[in-house]
Amino acid sequence: MEISFNPSASPRSDEELAAVLANPGFGQHFTDHMFSTLWTPEAGWHDAKVTAYAPLSIDPATAVLHYAQEIFEGLKAYRHEDGSIQTFRPEANGARLERSSHRLALPVLPVDDFVASIDALVKADERWVPDAAGEKSLYLRPFMFASEVFLGVRPSKHVTYMVIASPAGAYFAGGIKPVRLWLSETYTRSGRGGMGAAKTGGNYASSLIAQQEAIEKGFDQVVFLDAEEGKYVEELGGMNLYFVYDDGSIVTPETSGTILEGITRASIIELAGKLGHKVDERRISIDEWREGVESGRIVEVFACGTAAVLTPVGVLAWNGGEVGGSEGVGEVTGKIRQALVDIQFGRAEDTFGWMHRVL
Ligand SMILES: *Cc1c(COP(=O)(O)O)cnc(C)c1O
Repeated sequence: MEISFNPSASPRSDEELAAVLANPGFGQHFTDHMFSTLWTPEAGWHDAKVTAYAPLSIDPATAVLHYAQEIFEGLKAYRHEDGSIQTFRPEANGARLERSSHRLALPVLPVDDFVASIDALVKADERWVPDAAGEKSLYLRPFMFASEVFLGVRPSKHVTYMVIASPAGAYFAGGIKPVRLWLSETYTRSGRGGMGAAKTGGNYASSLIAQQEAIEKGFDQVVFLDAEEGKYVEELGGMNLYFVYDDGSIVTPETSGTILEGITRASIIELAGKLGHKVDERRISIDEWREGVESGRIVEVFACGTAAVLTPVGVLAWNGGEVGGSEGVGEVTGKIRQALVDIQFGRAEDTFGWMHRVL
């Protein structure tokens, strides 16, 4: 893929940038550039370019606005002590984007081109990658959408793929706080044959009402159960779940098409194994969770994803009851989190070959 570069004529000044990077928050500020490329059946992917970050002009009949044919990814670039800038497992994100493309009837962007698109934007916006202090990073958001102008139900014949970037502060600015979870018994995230394993905006759209319910009841995030029996734990709206047992073994719900295959989740399977834990991917019922915490068989619960890495789960509540969780960060949760973050920030040896050097 040939990528042209037309630098922004009005990049943010050093002073403005320093002010943003001092307190980036999450998803609030966007860098000076963006990557884009277009696809049509005749031309394939073409016109790949890095240009100044700017609003898109969208026809009101653009297909994605009506039929939600859209997918996205999320990953981070880290500045290491040696001055290099590295991304975490970008090929895994590229492979997942490809799987999502299949489900949403979108064209496949080759993984090499996906990685090249990320590299090109990170290079153009290198000065936006924060210093490693305080777990800051540059969050990258690749996305692909149906950009054909038409009304009608069929896959779009004009597709746009873009990457934008946003500096991210530590997810837990005031120290790690356990998330408080609300069990949704009204809504599900996905069903058999549905889109649960695809990273698509539609899954988020359908989770918002459940998330809103959780927040109204005083909780942070919602837990979804399987759609068929309403019995097995799936995941949160945007994070996977893990359970630590009193014998040191670790369980995460198996992905069988209804759960998003998190790259953090997959990395923890390997990392926890190396740290000496037995890791099982299997179904876990909501009763096993409730009874396990009550009996002391389950000693820690944590959620994971790119944005927060690992976050301890505090209380789990539902209509009519609750079980406790950790007050702070559990021993195993903390150990795995530290090991992962140390690899990402280049403070520990990357024995898995997960890091990809951009600069
Ligand atoms: C992105 C996402 C995750 C976490 O995936 P990571 O690759 O670890 O960031 C989990 N659940 C859902 C629904 C997601 O969209």
